[in-house]
Amino acid sequence: MLNNRLAIRLAEIKRQGLYRSRRIATATGGAAEVFSDGRRLINFSSNDYLGLAQHPEVVAAMVRGAQRWGAGSGASHLVSGHGGAHQALEEALADYTGRERALLFSTGYMANLGVVGALAERGGAVFEDRLNHASLLDAALLSGAGLRRYAHRDIGHLADLMSAGVKPGSMVVSDGVFSMDGDAAPVVELAAMARSAQAWFMVDDAHGLGVMGDSGRGVLELAGLDQSAVPVLVGTLGKAFGVFGAFVAGSEALIEYLIQRARSYIYTTALPPAVAEAALQSLQIAQTEAWRREKLKELIAYFREEGLRMGLNLLPSTTPVQPVLIGDNTRAMAISLALNDAGFLVSAIRPPTVPAGTARLRITLSAVHEREQVGRLLEILGHIAGQPG
Ligand SMILES: *Cc1c(COP(=O)(O)O)cnc(C)c1O
Repeated sequence: MLNNRLAIRLAEIKRQGLYRSRRIATATGGAAEVFSDGRRLINFSSNDYLGLAQHPEVVAAMVRGAQRWGAGSGASHLVSGHGGAHQALEEALADYTGRERALLFSTGYMANLGVVGALAERGGAVFEDRLNHASLLDAALLSGAGLRRYAHRDIGHLADLMSAGVKPGSMVVSDGVFSMDGDAAPVVELAAMARSAQAWFMVDDAHGLGVMGDSGRGVLELAGLDQSAVPVLVGTLGKAFGVFGAFVAGSEALIEYLIQRARSYIYTTALPPAVAEAALQSLQIAQTEAWRREKLKELIAYFREEGLRMGLNLLPSTTPVQPVLIGDNTRAMAISLALNDAGFLVSAIRPPTVPAGTARLRITLSAVHEREQVGRLLEILGHIAGQPG
């Protein structure tokens, strides 16, 4: 009976072209490739923008970390799970982001739930861009404060929403680089508005850190904003840094408060220390090997120039996230499958991850792609996308 109800819903999801299934990677085929169903595919669907997930020194750091500390942390940070590896990584992240302190979380999803849950108060409001990551929207809903969404990057709309008055315990929260569109938030304007309303301003730069700015410090480096302008910065370690985990960086008081009050920090097992060792190594490589950012920039410019020339429906993104807008769910899936047949892994992103009618191919570029691989992808994309749906 209960399962029948699920079966009916599943059939409905299928009918809408929204059914999701997982692909099984059977092996990595080097930095930019993956084996799936026994076939070698060039991976244009990973968030490993700097190509660090397979870096031999990062892998070696994880192995050494496991040998030194064991496979798991054994407890939450506040009980007995917080070790020297976590501490060293937090210090390095504070240094990297130019902030007083940083606090590790097990995932970005949990960091967002924890921070918004601790800072937003009942009676207050959490103002969010409509295209913010799902974890930020969930965080506001869970916090008990009111969720107020403004149109994408629309400062005027935010001003309208705020004009009704901003109560204490309110926040302005935005992705730094939007995960499905690849464009950047107007952080300078958002910072000014949050400051004048005396609300917290929080930027989740999961897709900007490591990649954007000359030294990879993300959209805040590009905008020249420091801790006083953006008191709460969230970053993840599973994207450009190629490992796993997340962190919050900010003032001493903020971090101490989160240690007391962020429930997704307190009530969960600390990251395996080996993961922290790998992330620390990765952070160092991301800083010293600037060529990775430079190469990525060149690939992005190449992809956009050629893609626009060919008439692909690209979004205004200067980041490694380069969506090709398709619109129809079924057609987006069909193109993704055709690319798969041609040897490319490019995932179709459909609602509810993106708004209805905006299904897209989400192409992500990485420093370990070769220009020639991007060229071949474009060629085939032009061929397939040019055919009538
Ligand atoms: C990926 C992502 C997250 C979640 O991070 P995980 O560490 O994968 O849980 C949070 N926010 C944004 C903007 C993201 O893109």
